[in-house]
Amino acid sequence: MPDCIFCKIIEGKLPAQKVYENKDLVAFLDIHPINPGHTLIVPKEHCRNLLDMPERLIEKTFVAAKKIAEAVQKGTNAEGINVGMNNEPASGQVVFHAHIHIIPRYNNDGLKLWPGKPYQDGQAREIQKRILAELPKEIFC
Ligand code: 5GP
Ligand code: ZN
Repeated sequence: MPDCIFCKIIEGKLPAQKVYENKDLVAFLDIHPINPGHTLIVPKEHCRNLLDMPERLIEKTFVAAKKIAEAVQKGTNAEGINVGMNNEPASGQVVFHAHIHIIPRYNNDGLKLWPGKPYQDGQAREIQKRILAELPKEIFC
C-alpha cells in the first residue's frame, strides 16, 4: 500500500529493529516505546485493522503475539505484559496497517489503567441487547 509506513518496513524500504519474521508477519520494536521492548506484531498483508483482517490471518497473528509476548517478557524482565490493538482513530489508532502492541509492564512504571465508569440504570441491559442482536448465532468455525 503506497504511503503506508508499515508496508515500507515490511518491504525493507524503511529500517526497523526486527525481532521476528516469517512469511505472514513481522515483529519489530515500536519507535516510541511505552517501555523499552514495546513490540509491534504486524501482518505482512495490508489490512486497516482487526475489523478487516481475514480470520486465517487473525489466528496466525494472535498465536504469534502470544509467543512473542513471552520472549518480550523474559527479555525485558517485565512483571506484566499488555497486549492491545487500536482499531480506528477513536480508539487511538494512528497507523492504519493492522498491528498488535506487546507492552512490557512493571509494578511501579507509573502508567495508569483506563478509567472505568458505572452504567446508568438499565443501560447495561440495553447495550447487552444491542450487541446480542448484532452477533451471529455461531461465531466459531
Ligand atoms: P497505533 O496508535 O496506531 O496503535 O500505534 C502505532 C504505533 O506505531 C505507535 O506506538 C508508534 O510509536 C509506532 N510507529 C509509528 N511510526 C513508526 C515507525 O516508523 N517505526 C516504528 N518502529 N514504529 C512506528
Ligand atoms: Zn500497510
